[in-house]
Amino acid sequence: MGEETTQLFDSYGRPLRHLRISVTGRCNFNCFFCHAEGYTAPPNKDLELSLEEFRVVAEAAKRVGFIDYKLTGGEPLIRDDIGEIVDIFASVGGRVSITTNGSFLVKRLKVLDPGKLDHINVSLNSLDREKFKKITGVDVLDKVVEGIRAAYEAGHRIKINFVVLKGLNDNEIEKIVDFASKYAFRLQVIELHPVGRAKGEIFSKHHGVASHVYNVLKNRVVRVRYRSGLHARPILVLDNGFEVELVLPVKNPIFCSRCTRMRLTWDGKLLPCLSWEGDPPVDIREYMRGAQSFEDKVSRVVEAFRKANRFRRPNHMYTLTTKDAPVVVKYTMRLGLPKSNGTLLFVGDSGRSHLEKYLMEWND
Ligand code: SAM
Repeated sequence: MGEETTQLFDSYGRPLRHLRISVTGRCNFNCFFCHAEGYTAPPNKDLELSLEEFRVVAEAAKRVGFIDYKLTGGEPLIRDDIGEIVDIFASVGGRVSITTNGSFLVKRLKVLDPGKLDHINVSLNSLDREKFKKITGVDVLDKVVEGIRAAYEAGHRIKINFVVLKGLNDNEIEKIVDFASKYAFRLQVIELHPVGRAKGEIFSKHHGVASHVYNVLKNRVVRVRYRSGLHARPILVLDNGFEVELVLPVKNPIFCSRCTRMRLTWDGKLLPCLSWEGDPPVDIREYMRGAQSFEDKVSRVVEAFRKANRFRRPNHMYTLTTKDAPVVVKYTMRLGLPKSNGTLLFVGDSGRSHLEKYLMEWND
């Protein structure tokens, strides 16, 4: 332990900062549009990563420069050791958060330490009981709302996730903003992504355009700012100071040019992108096979991250004819910085300070 961090960059100059970790494939909801985090293998509790494996992953992740860990699923609060998983990633100094459907929040609050979790994202796609049931397949809206209130009162920072579904919940934007303003520091409005169950017919039927959200809120927007790192996501600042973050991945080269993410499946495979087609290209368990000591396992998982990083590429890229390119010249110019084996080449003191400045910008 105690090895130095070597920040990984992909061949487009994008640093690897955010690790999205599915801790389980199991879920008590059955959302009709679920992308399953890009991995649709049937859930199997016996194949889920163990605490021991998470300790190795956390140490290796720190060494390749990850700073942010998002625990997701399936439903992450299904695991009764979720508090220990949070502790493991918090102990390597990263920012840790959870994305949950909220239905087990009340039950799990005692093991979730607000001092170790940066925030909890709670998915809430309707405040109407019937619609909630139609979307999730379960009649537990009250339980989720109760969980949000309880987590808020316990001192957690809450972010509400709302996937816009045309013809289903797109008339609830103002209602969800009002609800979220009471309990959350931010509302995240997510564009439906054509992955997993949301491919094909479901996408054609329910994909709503981002401008709809903006049009509904525009009289209340006093400022628009952008996250400097993760996907350069726009944040609408409303007249009461409340923030609405827009997650707009579809056909969006800006989103992809600022992507800092990799994903770990519940059975230990690395996915370079949510829209990755086919099997995940790297299996950390294969890399660890035969390794005896903790240190040996960590070095091998570092290699697994390096390998998976070589598969990263923006899902949507600029073409020379795109009309959008001029407005993002800052980002396009940054893509393709000099590098060797996934590591940027900056030497000497001025190089190091340049690199630090560059990384600060991607910290968000
Ligand atoms: N069970 C947890 C939950 O409900 O938050 C974590 C897993 S869920 C897959 C993670 C997030 O992805 C949720 O906010 C969910 O609404 C969102 N999501 C699922 N399918 C999606 C899709 N096709 N497009 C956009 N977001 C989606």
